[in-house]
Amino acid sequence: MSTAIMATGEFDLIGRYFEHQKINRPDVDLAIGDDCALLRVPEGYQLAISTDSLVAGTHFLADADPKQVAHKALASNLSDLAAMGATPAWVSLALTLPSFDEQWLSAFCEGFFQLAEQYNVQLIGGDTTKGPLSITLTVQGFVPLGQALTRSGASSTDAIYVTGQLGDSAAGLALLLKGKQCDNTALSQALMTRHFMTMPQVEAGTLLRGKASAALDISDGLIADLGHILKRSNVGAEIYTEALPISAELAAFCQTPEQAQQMALSSGEEYQLCFTVPVEQCDDVEALMAKQGIQISRIGQLTENKGIVLLNNGEPVNWQLSGWDHFESESK
Ligand code: ADP
Ligand code: MG
Repeated sequence: MSTAIMATGEFDLIGRYFEHQKINRPDVDLAIGDDCALLRVPEGYQLAISTDSLVAGTHFLADADPKQVAHKALASNLSDLAAMGATPAWVSLALTLPSFDEQWLSAFCEGFFQLAEQYNVQLIGGDTTKGPLSITLTVQGFVPLGQALTRSGASSTDAIYVTGQLGDSAAGLALLLKGKQCDNTALSQALMTRHFMTMPQVEAGTLLRGKASAALDISDGLIADLGHILKRSNVGAEIYTEALPISAELAAFCQTPEQAQQMALSSGEEYQLCFTVPVEQCDDVEALMAKQGIQISRIGQLTENKGIVLLNNGEPVNWQLSGWDHFESESK
């Protein structure tokens, strides 16, 4: 066999690579192997669909661990479903690879299917091409008709919450970019792992159906993303910076509490949810989340005055944050 034929043949086989998965959902009539997948949406539900691309050199380093890259690609997509209050069901994968690298592929599959199995998401198809490394996923999920969590439903009296902790992803990325992969301190390892291995807040999203007035996931930084809710809902916000959830690791990584809070405000790729709740529902939502062991923090209040005011222990502060400009220019 000539090498040219070999190379094409190998690429043709890549589709088959993804056929071996444990998830076998009853709403999938036909999955990988034909021209299209055939799927059923349950009655009374809307289909929520989202696509995200990860490009080597832009969203991850080309030599990053493929298992972690796969996790991040799927987690960031599932996070969009979570932010809509949707339950994940299906995913398709468009993969562009510079070469056929079996070791890379099998590690990628391991990371991908580990997370897919956790959320009962079935890979239903995709495409494989040769070129600069990039990964595009389209996820699909179900949300009961009319109950999706949009960005536009917030009122000026609602409280602002976030799930989990914020800032670790930016700290982890800073360590990675400084080339500290060999830095084996537990602290650095924990922060770098948070950057790649964050979990989508799917359970929190589904619990918030019918309770949150607006929601989104934090991919560009809390300030920048909250700006989308403010714009869509035509309101402003006050943020209590001391209420931002900071991990012990981030506190140790930063010189001062304020520095950690600034990272929490601007850190992207957190994949935590930011959501708003009518004041009379706050006790209910807090009790519901506590019962499920999901950490949430009340970090501020929506206002009628447009824009975002940062308050540090009650005093307005004028911190220069990355992500801030993005919001300022968008709100004009
Ligand atoms: P076509 O010529 O119809 O595009 P392909 O050879 O690209 O078919 O794909 C064959 C089957 O393998 C299809 O069902 C497709 O959905 C699936 N497939 C190809 N690449 C991938 C991938 N990266 N992930 C999942 N399924 C894939
Ligand atoms: Mg194809």
